[in-house]
Amino acid sequence: MTRPLQITVLGATGSIGLSTLDVIARHPDRYSVFALTGFSRLADLRSLCLKHRPSYAVVGDEAQAGVLQGQLQSDGVATRVLSGEGGLSEVAGHPEVDVVMAAIVGAAGLKPTLAAVQAGKRVLLANKEALVMSGALFMQALHDSDAVLLPIDSEHNAIFQCLPSDYARGLGAVGVRRILLTASGGPFRDIAPQLLADVSPEQACAHPNWSMGRKISVDSASMMNKGLELIEACWLFSARPDQVEVVIHPQSVIHSMVDYVDGSVLAQLGNPDMRTPIAHALAWPERIDSGVSALDLLQVGRLDFQAPDNLRFPCLRLARLAAETGGTAPAMLNAANEVAVDAFLNRRIRFTEIASIIDDVLNREASVPTVCLEDVLAADNQARETADHWLSCRGR
Ligand code: NAD
Ligand code: MG
Repeated sequence: MTRPLQITVLGATGSIGLSTLDVIARHPDRYSVFALTGFSRLADLRSLCLKHRPSYAVVGDEAQAGVLQGQLQSDGVATRVLSGEGGLSEVAGHPEVDVVMAAIVGAAGLKPTLAAVQAGKRVLLANKEALVMSGALFMQALHDSDAVLLPIDSEHNAIFQCLPSDYARGLGAVGVRRILLTASGGPFRDIAPQLLADVSPEQACAHPNWSMGRKISVDSASMMNKGLELIEACWLFSARPDQVEVVIHPQSVIHSMVDYVDGSVLAQLGNPDMRTPIAHALAWPERIDSGVSALDLLQVGRLDFQAPDNLRFPCLRLARLAAETGGTAPAMLNAANEVAVDAFLNRRIRFTEIASIIDDVLNREASVPTVCLEDVLAADNQARETADHWLSCRGR
């Protein structure tokens, strides 16, 4: 029998990280945990280390590493604790690792995810922000290495399942007319637009269909999540922005579709549970049990579709604009959004001001081509400064 695949889970304490560990634990013959990383909730990381006995754990800084190392020693766990960006990249690119789940939220995941790609791992990409920021460099690194990139985002995993295996030849060459990216519409799909200014972080995080981390929950409520996913789809499937159409589908049962030139539309369906795309990407091209129950179509009853409302969801329009502009525009969009979402979650701004901040940053900062990682990081930095300036000008 072959040895179990060694897996690093970046962002193990988060929603995707925990779902990944749930799937892995169902298949101890196939998978073994090599490293777990977490940034906060260190008590959770300690319990995960007790359960999964990884060779390494990675935390934010040296002081935290010292505390966790001491605790694990007294627990009798031999896990070695590393810290910071260096520690993350080390466990992502470690020679003993086969698979890396990239599930850190936001720009913080960029360098370790790139390290995994450069080291030729099977990379399971949940951290869409990394690809949005540095798409051209990311795809070039993928091309230059033996890495295999499998999308975890449920929509992109669905599209991957609906495309032919040679889709890298180009969408036109394989007969694809367009990609239909489905969106639930989030918790504010039907709210009167004038009420959006007063919604709370709790309301924004109460997603009707999916249970997720707080940042992506706010992104779903503003539909910036769909905007980031539009950019993600363009990179993953070599699509032009006009080949990706967003369709609101409130039930979140169809996870996305591919429309072919002969009129066929292929869809992937399932219950809204991230363990399905995680299990798919872990085992691909095989299939394994994910713990997700069978889809009961009779209980679902109906599948509805509607067009997104650009006035209610300006973030979607801004993301499409950034996708069309290219260069550092998506990195700036992402950075401004991260600052704005954080400010909203900390009650410093209104929900509707998220789009105002991003719009302001994109208007002030010119996009330049991304020749190297430093270009991306400089754009990210500049956009954060401009967004912070917006906040301080308004005394927030
Ligand atoms: P989460 O907030 O639940 O977890 C985030 C993880 O990243 C945690 O382990 C946290 O400790 C770690 N982290 C946060 N900041 C960090 C930093 N500065 N340095 C190192 N680690 C840090 O988020 P989530 O919902 O699991 O989402 C993770 C990623 O997956 C996001 O990019 C999100 O867009 C994507 N994604 C999530 C879902 C979902 O259903 N949750 C679906 C599709 C895509
Ligand atoms: Mg998604």
